[in-house]
Amino acid sequence: MKESFDLVIIGGGILGTSISYFLSFLNKSKKIAVIEQEKKVAHHTSGRNTGKVHAPYLYNPEKKKLFANAAFHGYEMWKEYSKQQNLPFKEDGVIEVALDEKGIKVLEKYLKWGKQNGLNEKDIELIDKTELKKIEPEIKCESALYVHRDGSTDYSTLTNAIMKDSEKNGINFLFKNKINQIKKIKDKWEITINDNEKIYSNFLINAAGGQAIDIAHNIGIAKNLTDVHFRGEYWKTPKKYHNLTKTSVYSVPEFPDYPFLDPHWIVRVDGSCEIGPNAVPVFSPYGYDTAENVKEFIPKILEMVNSGARKIIFDKDFQELAFSEIQSSMSKSRMVERVRKFLPKIDSKEITVKGTAGIRSSVIDEKGKFVPDVILLDEDSSFHILNYNSPGATGALPFAVYVINQLHEKGLFENEDIHAQCGPWKFNEIVERLEK
Ligand SMILES: Cc1cc2nc3c(=O)[nH]c(=O)nc-3n(C[C@H](O)[C@H](O)[C@H](O)COP(=O)(O)OP(=O)(O)OC[C@H]3O[C@@H](n4cnc5c(N)ncnc54)[C@H](O)[C@@H]3O)c2cc1C
Repeated sequence: MKESFDLVIIGGGILGTSISYFLSFLNKSKKIAVIEQEKKVAHHTSGRNTGKVHAPYLYNPEKKKLFANAAFHGYEMWKEYSKQQNLPFKEDGVIEVALDEKGIKVLEKYLKWGKQNGLNEKDIELIDKTELKKIEPEIKCESALYVHRDGSTDYSTLTNAIMKDSEKNGINFLFKNKINQIKKIKDKWEITINDNEKIYSNFLINAAGGQAIDIAHNIGIAKNLTDVHFRGEYWKTPKKYHNLTKTSVYSVPEFPDYPFLDPHWIVRVDGSCEIGPNAVPVFSPYGYDTAENVKEFIPKILEMVNSGARKIIFDKDFQELAFSEIQSSMSKSRMVERVRKFLPKIDSKEITVKGTAGIRSSVIDEKGKFVPDVILLDEDSSFHILNYNSPGATGALPFAVYVINQLHEKGLFENEDIHAQCGPWKFNEIVERLEK
């Protein structure tokens, strides 16, 4: 294969596919490809998550500004798209519960953040335990945040639908093509795929999820950053538990400074219920099983000790948290216990089937600190999206618009029609919404 493209998007997750979706409407002349190592889109994190369309109340408006803004607009956009395409989307809300005084203070902070991030009085409200009992009699708590503007969907189905639209409009999806190496040869990128084939591109967008850092390192940038991977595991609950609550229930995380969220009670879009996810440290963005983790153990440890991540490895609080998460992976009842604190009716003996685990890759800087927001690196003829984590699926459509608009302003898509109708939206109107 010696094909040449104007633009290659690396990664057929929800983000890479969303970028291709908008470009497929705007672009009239460029040859564009999405390169994906698996045989379908959303094979990894985008198809292995909680399926919530998150309201932006959990995100500090200063530290997670980009994520919060994208999530705020993503809700309406997925709702509109799902309606137009007849895809699953439920406006079922979410409840965040506090189990003690300390937790109530956190809920008050979340209410403030939610409003700063665009939610209004009708979208989010703080209610006391008596009020909550009337709505969700099985839930035990001291206070709750009822978030009405929150929903459930199936992100595999959504990603697949936007891929089909992109393909119809001329984007090439090259599946089963793993990128091994990228080199600049004169003014073009030479991309080695499946170990020996070469393709060429003028421009690259790196949306490789858990491998985005590796791709950036491969072309010699972001060397001060590394990542750590956490496997989020789920347990499916039996049918008799499916009507215990009307909505999903989250509890205030015990350690809000770490990217470990306490497992939730999840009501999926099809009505089934699960418990999860925890956050077990693993050694690969695809470390679903022991074989992959054993294979990647030594290279990952070497990478970590030679980067800012070594500070994390030797941090006592982190070690304690990691140990507790590993225990929750080895012992189902430990994980169920965390949900039983607010939903006492469930019994771990009745819960026997594992759900589909997904892996989150969090970026750590040279000081050994987790980076809270998404990182955008605008390099010479390449653009890199690193640390694209929760609520990345919710925000994927507006975030794709944001990225394309940045490149347009830089001159990359200057000939494209930014007033184009892209499915239910006009591109420039979304840009205006994001800038408000
Ligand atoms: C447990 C868990 C629960 C979550 N729950 C939610 C939720 O409820 N709501 C929400 O909004 N967000 C949630 N998220 C976050 C959300 O799922 C992610 O932010 C989002 O899916 C990231 O999408 P992506 O396209 O960047 O990455 P990915 O889905 O990982 O896609 C990247 C793609 O790049 C491909 N790729 C990588 N390297 C190469 C290579 N070298 N060659 C070719 N292809 C390559 C991969 O195969 C992959 O398909 C959750 C995340 C986790 C881990």
